[in-house]
Amino acid sequence: MVDLQGQYRDIQTEVNERFTSVLESAAFINGPEVQEFQKALEAYLGVKHVIPCANGTDALQIAMMGLGLQPGDEVITADFTFAATVEVIALLGLTPVLVDVLPDTFMIDPASVARAITPKTKAIVPVHLFGQTAPMDDIMEIATKYNLKVIEDNAQAIGATFTSVNGTKKMAGTIGHVGATSFFPSKNLGCYGDGGALFTNDDALAHTLRGIVNHGMYERYHHDVVGVNSRLDALQAAVLNAKLPRLDSYNAKRRAAAKAYNAAFKGHPDIELPKTVNGCEGICDSCDCHVFHQYTLKITHGKRDALVAHLASEAIPCGVYYPIPLHKQKAYTNDSYKETDFTVTNTLSEQVISLPMHTELDAAQISHITKTILNFLNS
Ligand SMILES: *Cc1c(COP(=O)(O)O)cnc(C)c1O
Repeated sequence: MVDLQGQYRDIQTEVNERFTSVLESAAFINGPEVQEFQKALEAYLGVKHVIPCANGTDALQIAMMGLGLQPGDEVITADFTFAATVEVIALLGLTPVLVDVLPDTFMIDPASVARAITPKTKAIVPVHLFGQTAPMDDIMEIATKYNLKVIEDNAQAIGATFTSVNGTKKMAGTIGHVGATSFFPSKNLGCYGDGGALFTNDDALAHTLRGIVNHGMYERYHHDVVGVNSRLDALQAAVLNAKLPRLDSYNAKRRAAAKAYNAAFKGHPDIELPKTVNGCEGICDSCDCHVFHQYTLKITHGKRDALVAHLASEAIPCGVYYPIPLHKQKAYTNDSYKETDFTVTNTLSEQVISLPMHTELDAAQISHITKTILNFLNS
């Protein structure tokens, strides 16, 4: 699915030099690499504050702590996402409220969000799934109307942009009150272990978050709030410093691969191609609204599972993200959910398939993958 060795070979000299300097300085926690990365990411995203932390799950949790959400508060999020999103809501004693997604883009459905609002609703967590943003104009409008906080789960869409109906263009993760991302190795900007970050333009919130990541300390050994230990390692920051200047070219390579896949699959009766939130197919040459964390097709006519089995027999990697909607997971079921409220996620879990997608995919690999899939569907 990903080729991290190939990508490392390309940046080996720089990464190794940075590693050596961290090892020699012994500044393993915080230190210059972390500070350099924080500043570089702030500049890249055009956001006032980046708060590095230990991983993307922590980033989501810290965002909710920083916003002062209290046990019993309801937090609305998508039924179709990685469990981390809902896990931290439950862990903090907040009440997760899962809602359906849009059938074409797989993004949280604003109409379902609006229907799920109660007097206890305090926040919405839109997930920028598979590499593009959720419909943020609609989400922000609902949030403003009901005075809700918006925490963007940007683990899968770093580097993607969102263009609002009024024409303003913003980086994914910088549109709501706070954004959270992950630098897990397979993410678009991945380190060589765990890493994460929060983004916000709110000075007071940034200050709160910086304390929470470090045991609630704003002054050494003064613990003003309950915090956690969630810091980005200097060695991980060193990798990220080498990779961040290359992120746009990495994302362009992913888009090129998506374009080649799309061209091969276009018009096939069993295949629905990935759609973008802004309707441009995300792969026009100038467009950076989709950074293809995953290239995800819908396989119709009940053929998905047979295709997955066939690809396995041909040793072609593929993934099903996500095979079980969250509302059906034992940890997150809730008697108040009705299956009729989740018709889209239920269908998607039976239709989606994600194909290999990374910066090192070449034309020969794509052609082998697409031919194998088309031969199977046509046989
Ligand atoms: C990867 C991911 C996370 C969690 O990030 P970690 O760094 O693995 O903790 C959260 N949300 C989504 C949508 C993700 O894809």
